[in-house]
Amino acid sequence: MKLAIAGAAGRMGRLVVKHAINEGLKVSQAFDVVEVGKDAGELAGVGKIGVLVENDITKLNADVLVDFTNPEACIKNARIASQKGVKLVIGTTGFSEEQRKELESYCKKVPAVISPNFSIGVNAFFKIVEFASSLLHSYDIEIFEIHHKMKKDAPSGTAIKTAEIIREVLAKKGKELELKFCREGKRGNEIGVFGIRGGDVVGEHTVLFFSEGERVEITHRATSRDSFAKGAIMAVKWIAGVEKPGIYSMLDVLSENMPS
Ligand code: NAD
Repeated sequence: MKLAIAGAAGRMGRLVVKHAINEGLKVSQAFDVVEVGKDAGELAGVGKIGVLVENDITKLNADVLVDFTNPEACIKNARIASQKGVKLVIGTTGFSEEQRKELESYCKKVPAVISPNFSIGVNAFFKIVEFASSLLHSYDIEIFEIHHKMKKDAPSGTAIKTAEIIREVLAKKGKELELKFCREGKRGNEIGVFGIRGGDVVGEHTVLFFSEGERVEITHRATSRDSFAKGAIMAVKWIAGVEKPGIYSMLDVLSENMPS
């Protein structure tokens, strides 16, 4: 299997290169707009692999493309990949509604895993939150997340996905709630979602369930980006064996290891 990585010089891209090499995968292409001409393995700290960073995605020639870039770049990369029949693993976050629809239109033409969070723990957290929401559906529910100050989008894709999961559970119980990002003023009929930014925090997500006299909190803390990169590599191996075009989630990748 030939693996291409977009955003190969970034924080996540370098780790994906590292874990791909450690797992014995063949990294055949590395794309970025910076560090062009440098060896992707050297950037990733695993020594030379003979793959130089290039910045022309139209040269894509791989079985799977992993994308950790930014929304604009990711949409372009997905368009080229779908035209060439290259499978996709997308970790990029921060899409507007319109961008998401465009991305999804390309991803329907090839098998694609899209996940705002590839860590196994966060995907277990999604299931735990889903279960807790069905038990505590009458409680007031709020979400906060903390990330490093370089993060471009807020609230995080993971926080938004968590809120959507809760909203779906509550809708089934007949309770329609809005999502409210960064509230000012009084709480309404809503799930509040808050992004906190500072320092080098890799990623924390907490869901709070409030009632009179008690509070339940469910928290996931990522202490290293390796957990995301390892999950992305799991998704690469999984999607390599999928032929049916369509959008898959990390829960699909983990489905054999997680109760439904
Ligand atoms: P980063 O800024 O360190 O890396 C992004 C890289 O993409 C940079 O090197 C940049 O030069 C490159 N890039 C920009 N335009 C490009 C283009 N047209 N073609 C190729 N490369 C291009 O950011 P990061 O921390 O690595 O995060 C990248 C994305 O992944 C963000 O959206 C972030 O929120 C998301 N993320 C997702 C997960 C997950 O598990 N899904 C985990 C962490 C981060």
